[in-house]
Amino acid sequence: ATLPYDDQNVFARILRGEIPSKTVYEDDFALAFHDIAPQAPVHVLVIPKGPYVSWDDFSARAPEALIAGFVRAVGKVARDLGLVEPGYRLLANVGNHGGQEVPHLHVHLFGGAPLGPMLA
Ligand code: 5GP
Repeated sequence: ATLPYDDQNVFARILRGEIPSKTVYEDDFALAFHDIAPQAPVHVLVIPKGPYVSWDDFSARAPEALIAGFVRAVGKVARDLGLVEPGYRLLANVGNHGGQEVPHLHVHLFGGAPLGPMLA
């Protein structure tokens, strides 16, 4: 079962502006910001504007408009960063076995160099 959403998690606090982050993109559906501990030359996190613990929670519960807006935002961030032609990687860790550390859905966007087989 999915945990209840904790509105004190660090990404909820970033969304409320209580913790600073380096914003890359923002619209009504999503916020994108640089990861504090980048694992690639470009390492951006894209999060939906809503109380969703994980990809599982979001895909099951979020309204269609938010799902569409979030997916479009992820694509736009990659395009705006010039990553489409060289290529990039998306990753969403879910739960314990996935190694998810922050309980607010985030998609990792990696790029800027040829990537190895995996990045967590
Ligand atoms: P997860 O393991 O949950 O998929 O990834 C969490 C990511 O959030 C990690 O890559 C970590 O570096 C990043 N992160 C954790 N705390 C902060 C923070 O306060 N600010 C930013 N910008 N990134 C964070």
